[in-house]
Amino acid sequence: MRQMDLTNAGAFSGANLENARDHNRRVTIETLRVHGPLSRADVARITGLSVQTTSNIAEELIGASLLLEKPVSSLRGKPPKILSINPDGAYSIGLQLDHNWLIGVLLDLAGVRRGEIMVPVDSPNPQSGLAALEEAARQLVADAHVQFEQICGVSVVMPGPFEVDSLASDGPTILPGWADVAVADRLAERLNLPVSVENDATAAAMGEHYFGVARRHRNVVVIFVGTGLGGGILINGQPYRGAFRNAGEIGHLTVYPDGRRCYCGNQGCAETYLSVHAAYEHLGYEKTPPTYDELLHRLHTGERQFDTWMDKAAAVLRLLVVNLENMFDPETVVVNGFMPYPVLAELERRALPLPPSISSRQRRETPRVILGAAGLEVAALGAAVLPLFYSFGHLTPVSAAMPLKT
Ligand SMILES: [Zn+2]
Repeated sequence: MRQMDLTNAGAFSGANLENARDHNRRVTIETLRVHGPLSRADVARITGLSVQTTSNIAEELIGASLLLEKPVSSLRGKPPKILSINPDGAYSIGLQLDHNWLIGVLLDLAGVRRGEIMVPVDSPNPQSGLAALEEAARQLVADAHVQFEQICGVSVVMPGPFEVDSLASDGPTILPGWADVAVADRLAERLNLPVSVENDATAAAMGEHYFGVARRHRNVVVIFVGTGLGGGILINGQPYRGAFRNAGEIGHLTVYPDGRRCYCGNQGCAETYLSVHAAYEHLGYEKTPPTYDELLHRLHTGERQFDTWMDKAAAVLRLLVVNLENMFDPETVVVNGFMPYPVLAELERRALPLPPSISSRQRRETPRVILGAAGLEVAALGAAVLPLFYSFGHLTPVSAAMPLKT
């Protein structure tokens, strides 16, 4: 994979040059993350950057304590120096708040999980939810024995969409009462750290890209089956967020124009068929219970009502996959979320065979649909990656708080 050495491309304005440096820093760190420790010359060879540019970036990143450079023993001559990511150069926190669980993860700069936390909640309102988020972040930092100042950012993921008038009321899949709450600002005040808020499905896509089944893929769509239904879109290894962070709200794609009424005001939205909420609604529950064991139990006993729901949900999954393929031309579509894994696996099985799309090719390395592998904490993991990911482009010394792109 050769990257363009943008700093040598000429005819750049000041702002573009800064963008080029951001890009080159990110490429350098990413190369060391993927390939492990390398010499400056090897980094230059792999990235396609010039040796001079690589050296400048390496000096800068070493100065910011984000990279380490150590001589390795050699039999003769001057020992070569090897660059590596400094795991303790920075940390980040990802927190996922849903109807039933608060899941938190603390990552170091090398992307290694240094702590995790899972707390049951019950459709938290802003007051109890913000307090729980703050406490989880403080607990993670205390348990990992790191300094608060070393946290480069906190990313909170919640079920979207955000700031949409028709969808901001009390939909069954949206957390009640949060529509007008500036979550990032309020939590940033409590923690005195940069905080951003992300859509849970976007974070789930990053989670699969860094820790799950999409590690080798740079263009992926993730179908996230949570209480509602979301889509995470990864384009060239970067999350596509849209103009207002709501891209991928596939739960409200119309799959049957005359279908079930949705709280968004339309009919036949995908999430009224394919979501944890839809499953329980089909089974006659008024409120989604806090445990998903019930779904697993119904799957194993082969109950007829559940079986009918599975067929409907799988039909919607099939439609979604084909439409998303035709729209994004991804390497693969990943299905993950809060649904028990065996239920997701059965939905995938019933969704096959898929109708033709632009992704129908005989010689494929990866199947058109695969199940996620990053587990229940996939969105929290992906969220934790985001502050590190965005920080690389806005590098300041680690002792100072790194601004997040929000
Ligand atoms: Zn809808």
